[in-house]
Amino acid sequence: MGCQRKRMPWFDRCVNSRQKIRRGAVQRIIDLLLPDHCRCCGVPCDEGGYCLDCAAGLPRHEQQCRLCGVPFTGGGVCGRCRQDPPPIFQTIAPFLYAPPVSDDIRTLKYHRKLACGRDLGYLLTRELENRAPGLPDALVPVPLHWKRRFRRGFNQSVEIARPISLKLGIPIDLSLVERRVDTTPQVGLMPRQRRRNMRRAFAATHVRMPGSVAIVDDVITSGSTVREVARCLRSAGVEHVTVWAITKV
Ligand SMILES: [Zn+2]
Ligand SMILES: [Zn+2]
Repeated sequence: MGCQRKRMPWFDRCVNSRQKIRRGAVQRIIDLLLPDHCRCCGVPCDEGGYCLDCAAGLPRHEQQCRLCGVPFTGGGVCGRCRQDPPPIFQTIAPFLYAPPVSDDIRTLKYHRKLACGRDLGYLLTRELENRAPGLPDALVPVPLHWKRRFRRGFNQSVEIARPISLKLGIPIDLSLVERRVDTTPQVGLMPRQRRRNMRRAFAATHVRMPGSVAIVDDVITSGSTVREVARCLRSAGVEHVTVWAITKV
């Protein structure tokens, strides 16, 4: 009996993960079959969850630091980036972390609604078509540690990157960076603790790197995660790293 009790949690986790993966596959098929309608006003829209009018009205940052995306009315580069420049050429994270975008992000991450990832990806693509100065050679979704990827069944950054890849014709490369450390969740940590948490969490894997890369993420909070991924890519030889995310908190 003792032995059985010890083995059950592992068994339960495995079954749960398999069920999650199956639910994910069914969700993908439903997403493909059902037509898109704007989730704000209900009119049919070609792609994504928001029509052009409603997308234009979503809460967004007015002015941001070019390098880290922090709200910054001075124009150009914020004080922190002037003191300690990130290894990032530009950050585009246009939306405020506010409903309905924040609801979509939570629904994607915690309720496995992959269609929200697709909608958010299309939403970001529209912004990129207007704002990105040039297109990178590859998209690098922020990697999850394999244990977290296994538990969740998907990586939300990959789901957001898919429509961007499709629309802009940029390949997603999941092999350039790996997450070596399963870091503790960053919520509630001070900026210094976040940076310490992230140190050596990622590693570049390729000897030959593309010349330019866009890191794709859902939410940028302190920026320590994307900064660390960018540092790995730059030290492995990538010349030009930009960050594309849905929101900057
Ligand atoms: Zn609408
Ligand atoms: Zn900045």
